Amino acid sequence: MMHSFKILLALALGSLVAAEVRAQSATLLSDVTIVDVIDGTLTSGQSVLIRDGLIAEVGAEISSASATRLDGGGGYLIPGLWDSHVHIFSTPNEPDTALPLYLVNGVTGIRDMGALWPIAEQQALQARIEAGEVLGPRLILAGAWVDASPGSWPGMFLADTPDEARGVVDRIAAEGWAAVKAYSMLDGATYLALAEAAHSARLPFVGHIPERVALGTAIEARQDGIEHFGRVAMACSTVEDGMLESLRTVMAEGADLAHIFEIMASRNRIILETWDESLCDAVLARMAEARMHVSPTLGVADFYTGNWPAQDAPRMRMIPAEVREAWGRPDFRLEAMTDEVRALAEDSIALDRRTFLMAHRAGVPILASTDASFANPYLFHGFSLLDELDLYVTIGLTPREALYTATVAPPRFFGLADQDGTIAPGRRADLVLLGANPLEDLSTLRAPQLVIVGGHVLDRAALDGLETMLLDRGH
Ligand SMILES: [Zn+2]
Repeated sequence: MMHSFKILLALALGSLVAAEVRAQSATLLSDVTIVDVIDGTLTSGQSVLIRDGLIAEVGAEISSASATRLDGGGGYLIPGLWDSHVHIFSTPNEPDTALPLYLVNGVTGIRDMGALWPIAEQQALQARIEAGEVLGPRLILAGAWVDASPGSWPGMFLADTPDEARGVVDRIAAEGWAAVKAYSMLDGATYLALAEAAHSARLPFVGHIPERVALGTAIEARQDGIEHFGRVAMACSTVEDGMLESLRTVMAEGADLAHIFEIMASRNRIILETWDESLCDAVLARMAEARMHVSPTLGVADFYTGNWPAQDAPRMRMIPAEVREAWGRPDFRLEAMTDEVRALAEDSIALDRRTFLMAHRAGVPILASTDASFANPYLFHGFSLLDELDLYVTIGLTPREALYTATVAPPRFFGLADQDGTIAPGRRADLVLLGANPLEDLSTLRAPQLVIVGGHVLDRAALDGLETMLLDRGH
């Protein structure tokens, strides 16, 4: 009687009860090769004991009578991947697709950089993931974006004066966000007040460098992280100041948005003509010294050049039909492109990539990132991060250096106590088992053998199951 009652309870509570059972059980993963992403070494014949969502022990000889045993078959074990710039809350159902897409791609951590959901609902999902009630990557909520009114996106925090900036930071801190994110249309004085208030509140200050603010000013304001890469290449132009000043002037005169966008669009040609290598070296050295982290989102360029996947590509079929349809409709960002920008796109992209490689070599810390969102056409949760890492290798990073930007740099930048891109006791059990050595070739990331998130093990069959679910739902 008692026994059958328990079974009924388990059925009724479904995954919730299953999660409790999981949390109490231990897993012993044997015969793996540990990949050290920091120094590039491999240690074969290792076992990893996972208990309560954490790595309890790593070594050649570990025994545990109670643990569930799992044979790693000599595979390569890396820390789980992070995408440091995503948006998973742009529609009511986006997490239902986004979370499994991250897991099947080995992404066990994401930083959300701007949402259309109320913060309380984002935090509720975050808590359910942490509790193991919902299977998904670790979630950092850094989407407290602050812009000048009326705001570039709905629901942003708005600040048009230094006083308002201070008030906004008070609200952001009270609501429990992980960072303050600056946005493009802030004026200089408001931006500086925002930076100061964020630092006083001990919140990381990240985001866009506003269109009227110089990169050097952002360094002086101790902006901790910047999103996207265009402003770095622009700071390597000998006339960055002039470009900023002409925008300040027309905005002070109350120019309409079309005129403002026209001026911003004209920057591409000017940057191509005035980009200067030695100036760039100096700018990048300052960024490196300031430890200003960059989330490059280089793959976003594919959207503008029309390098889109086929309609019947698996990744397309894994997202909801209505999202695919929305992506196929005319997009305001493409329509805002001038003929000149279109004609120069290839050269602008090449210059961004050249500058990116210089930044990496100068020691500017990079956080692999994509801008994946249902709101950003052809940028895919999960898949786009692997594309981004491939792109870094194409540009000139080694596979280890590319992996570093997705495994080691993010948790350290976020200041996570239980995660630092190493596979060691006390670290959170966010791990990916691969069939081949990723330090030689990142393509092995496309077919993980195991993905372990918060200690919960997804074997290949479970990952295939998630993919099938996504494909079925996408129709
Ligand atoms: Zn974004």
